[in-house]
Order: sequence, then C-alpha cells, then structure tokens
Amino acid sequence: MDLRELYQELILDHNRNPRNRRHLEKASRIAMGYNPLCGDKVTIELLLDSQGSILDIAFEGSGCAISTASASLMTEAVKGKTPKQIEAIFEKFHSEVTDQPCPKHQDVELGKLVALIGVKKYPARVKCATLAWHTLKAALDQVGETVTTE
Ligand code: ZN
Repeated sequence: MDLRELYQELILDHNRNPRNRRHLEKASRIAMGYNPLCGDKVTIELLLDSQGSILDIAFEGSGCAISTASASLMTEAVKGKTPKQIEAIFEKFHSEVTDQPCPKHQDVELGKLVALIGVKKYPARVKCATLAWHTLKAALDQVGETVTTE
C-alpha cells in the first residue's frame, strides 16, 4: 500500500502533535475503545453541558498514525457541538470512509476530516480511522464497557 498517498500532511501533523491528547480532570463521561485488528487503543473523556453538548474533550491511547490522527482530528471537529451535530458529522464521516452514499447529510461539512477519507481504499484501515468515533459514541450513549471495532 502506498503510504505517501494515505498519510497526507495533515495526518502526519496530527500524529506528531495530537490535539487534545491529555487527561480531563472533570470528565463527565469516559469510554474506551480497542481495535484488535491493528492494536489501537483509545480512551475518550468528555465534559458535557446540561444539553449534552461537548464543552471539552480529551483522548489518550496508543495506536497507529491513522488512529492517533483520527482521534486528534475528531476532538477538534466535535468540540462545542451538540449531540445532533455530532451524529450528523459521524454519519457523514463514516459513510465517506466506508465508501457509502450519505444522502441524509449532503450539506454536512467535514472540514479537516476529509484528510482521512483516503482510507476507504484500505478496508483494514477504516477501523483505525473510525475507532475514536465509535468510542465517542459509546461515551455519549454512556455505554460503560470497552467498545471494539469487531
Ligand atoms: Zn490502526
């Protein structure tokens, strides 16, 4: 596989200098995710307001460049967003990386997340790119157990 094509500049940057990779002292939600296919592990911590919007988000974990960059880009994409906005972004992002049409969210802007869409050519990497999102969803839904991509 051609890594130069997949690992674009933005992905490299977010892997080298992940945004929001820290521990949230006052997290109101926490979830852990694991992708056994690649060995990626991620913990997502959230601070929500009374409406369920994300006031703050942080992640910790270890994994490949795609999973780290994806978690970093995700934290930037969802901070300050409402649950409804987050669901729309996730559905749109998920359909793009799995190469499915998403007629419901034509007008949703993915912003920097677009950098990750190249993974659709590498099915095994899709799980690396979506792990943080599945884990975020578990945290928002308050599912207490570790989610896996399997
Ligand atoms: Zn991975």
